[in-house]
Amino acid sequence: MSTANKGKLIIFSAPSGAGKTTLVKYIMSAMDDLAFSVSAASRKKRPGETDGKDYYFMTVDEFKQKIRNGEFIEWEEVYKDHFYGTLRSEVERIRNSGKHVVFDVDVKGGLNIKKIYGDDALAIFIKPPSIETLKQRLIQRGTDDRKEIETRIAKAERELSYAGQFDVIIVNDDLEKAKREAYKVVKDFLNK
Ligand code: ADP
Ligand code: 5GP
Repeated sequence: MSTANKGKLIIFSAPSGAGKTTLVKYIMSAMDDLAFSVSAASRKKRPGETDGKDYYFMTVDEFKQKIRNGEFIEWEEVYKDHFYGTLRSEVERIRNSGKHVVFDVDVKGGLNIKKIYGDDALAIFIKPPSIETLKQRLIQRGTDDRKEIETRIAKAERELSYAGQFDVIIVNDDLEKAKREAYKVVKDFLNK
């Protein structure tokens, strides 16, 4: 298949708790021809998550073997012993099928993917209205313990400083408004 027929890449990055999973799920349900890039991850599966759908869950050793095999486009140790990475095979499979690839990755990973794919990729930063709101959302989500939430908040402060390097920033305050904005920027990008 020629490069022209290959799918484009849509990257969602944000500090944890800003709402990217919510917005990614919405975009996936609202538009055709999109497929989610399932990442590899070495963290424990949360209740409600499915292996192969949310992540390819694996041990730290298995993850490190894949690093050595050169299977990742990018990977990060996002939190200690929590490795996450984008599999080359996953991205190529989706692009070759003509679908557009949607990513939910951390801020560094998002910028790395953008650097590799340039104009074929749209890098979207989801910004929380404030750090305090972010904390409240993580507490309400109820998936992480207190220590984990503190780690995520500390990282969030650093991540916010990268927002300006993204193609688009969407502030996720009013969820319906954020959904409309996300829909519009993705639609415009795919129609270009
Ligand atoms: P992320 O994937 O960035 O970690 P999530 O999508 O899991 O974030 O959202 C974190 C929590 O905040 C979830 O419980 C979600 O339902 C909630 N949430 C997302 N967007 C909003 C919003 N605009 N207003 C209030 N709560 C929200
Ligand atoms: P969570 O544990 O909340 O599912 O994800 C933690 C963080 O890891 C989130 O910011 C998420 O976007 C990020 N992440 C998920 N998959 C990848 C990936 O393949 N690469 C990178 N760099 N980050 C990822």
